[in-house]
Amino acid sequence: MKILLIEDEKALARAVVRLLEQAGHQVEWRGDGLEGLDEAKRNDYDLLVLDVMLPGKNGWEILEALRRSRRNLPILMLTALEETEDRVRGLDLGADDYLPKPFEGIELVARVNALLRRDKAFKGNIILVADLELDRKNQTVFRSGQEIHLTKREFQLLEALAVNHGKVLTREVIQNRVWGDEESYSNTVDVFVGTLRKKVDAPFGSKLIHTVVGFGYMLKSPEEVAGP
Ligand code: CA
Repeated sequence: MKILLIEDEKALARAVVRLLEQAGHQVEWRGDGLEGLDEAKRNDYDLLVLDVMLPGKNGWEILEALRRSRRNLPILMLTALEETEDRVRGLDLGADDYLPKPFEGIELVARVNALLRRDKAFKGNIILVADLELDRKNQTVFRSGQEIHLTKREFQLLEALAVNHGKVLTREVIQNRVWGDEESYSNTVDVFVGTLRKKVDAPFGSKLIHTVVGFGYMLKSPEEVAGP
């Protein structure tokens, strides 16, 4: 996994890099807060190990900035400040875990691996289509980072389309997946697709839900080539 370490103490940073590399990870290191934040935004890391006291920008500021732009990046904070208050502060701002200094190498590696495992399980529940993000576990939908509120039925419909993105689903298949054998009107699917479009497509100026005349509906990203 690709890990970014932002830590200004050179000896500690070198030790952490070595430990994580030995555990099979690929590690990039920055000693300055500003450069670190920049790197975290520019490249796609699986996890960030973040110190608090840093030149340029401190760990709290970096955490806050990243929670705005990279909501799903797991962050493990390292700090010499051991007070409970600081620990709470870190978790409140959205750090995923907190490791007080000094720590044992084995503890660091264990925490990093636990976070990566948790993240993998979490991401398994996420379907991404272009800028649309559907979380099957928490039943939430975001587009361009903005939450879209759907009813249970609307969510099920979008989920059915998203699971099969790039493929056409007939009205019958949709009807079956979302409504099962419940009674519904013949135009129910069309009505719900219409509502979904208003919520999911219209406010964002680009279309993800497509009508395939004579067949049904399909969710696809603009780059996606339609399959059977
Ligand atoms: Ca430091």
